[in-house]
Amino acid sequence: MNQAEASVSSKLPELGTTIFTVMSKMAQDFGAINLSQGFPDFEPPERLLEAFRQRLSGGHHQYPPMHGVAALRTQIQKKLERFYQVTVDSETEITVTSGATEAIFVTVQALVHPGDEVVIFDPAFDAYAPAVALAGGIAKHLQLTGPHFEVDETALEQVVSSRTRLLIINSPHNPCGGLINRETLEHIAALANRFDFYVLSDEVYEHMVFDGHRHVSAIEIPALRRRTLMISSFGKTFHATGWKVAYCVAPPNLTIEFRKVHQFVTFTTHTPCQWAIADFLANDGGHIADLSKFYERKRDLFNALLSPLGFQLLPSQGTYFQLADYSRIPALAGLTDTACANTLTQDYGVAAIPISVFYKTPPKNQRLIRFCFAKDDETLKLAAERLALRLKDKATP
Ligand code: GLN
Repeated sequence: MNQAEASVSSKLPELGTTIFTVMSKMAQDFGAINLSQGFPDFEPPERLLEAFRQRLSGGHHQYPPMHGVAALRTQIQKKLERFYQVTVDSETEITVTSGATEAIFVTVQALVHPGDEVVIFDPAFDAYAPAVALAGGIAKHLQLTGPHFEVDETALEQVVSSRTRLLIINSPHNPCGGLINRETLEHIAALANRFDFYVLSDEVYEHMVFDGHRHVSAIEIPALRRRTLMISSFGKTFHATGWKVAYCVAPPNLTIEFRKVHQFVTFTTHTPCQWAIADFLANDGGHIADLSKFYERKRDLFNALLSPLGFQLLPSQGTYFQLADYSRIPALAGLTDTACANTLTQDYGVAAIPISVFYKTPPKNQRLIRFCFAKDDETLKLAAERLALRLKDKATP
């Protein structure tokens, strides 16, 4: 007997499947080299894998503490001291989560009441706005401006008010590769103190910063410290995005609220992975210190391969993403960014991400796509060859 489907009143009626899943599936279906979703095509450090193997046979198969394995939280505390000269209490200020996406969701659910406003800078990672909507919050979208996609401080002053509960920043920035500077953070701190709001600082690309720049963490700014929830992850840093181990650093009163939600979202995070990461962090053989140089070289290689093809490459100061403007490539210039990403994936054999999906109101006629260069050199060369071949075909009448 046929039964009619039960009707469902969607809580996210406008939303489809995340662009990362859509493009990775398209890449697979069409046999394209996947430079869309951000993940490396090479292995994590061997010593991390060895630590994991060891910990698999060490009896670490039951629930860890809800806020994370103590040894891992201690290593995170040391890492914060080492890189930012900031001392936090590993018991009351660090919570291990199952990926940064969980930590973002938990932060928003824990702090945002129905009707509260949350400031989001577009283009923005696609997990922010749905989390706000599910909490009943109101997202206030501001656009980043200029070649480095900077915060427009005047526009920011006009949008924040006593209705603002939370402001979300992301540096190094996905998808643009920009860095927030200390002055902007100080400005945000002044506004946060004046209007009494919190700051979610998404810093998952903290260890990939190029050209001699230094990443400034929001927790380094004394006036922001007691209002900030800093979120980072080991997925990017250790080439292990599938491990889904991340953490949130926040003052004790915010951490209490954070954990109230975290305990009923995932409760805990995979135990052997936490131990393995703790072991590796105790002596990473220079992995983190060398990571920026490792990715800077890949960025330079990728840029050298792509610019002769007519792509204009925007400055990428951090992350493993490169924005490319295709408006000067006759075969592509007429396409919207979504059509361009689809064409490149299906027809050219190289998958990319359109940028318009990261905006509430995308700028008209913007011709930008994002490539991920966290790939073996051979993969990057092959991708450039494929693009060159098809572009040459198109150019010949
Ligand atoms: N952060 C990754 C990216 O931007 C994707 C994460 C995800 O797929 N949820 O490509």
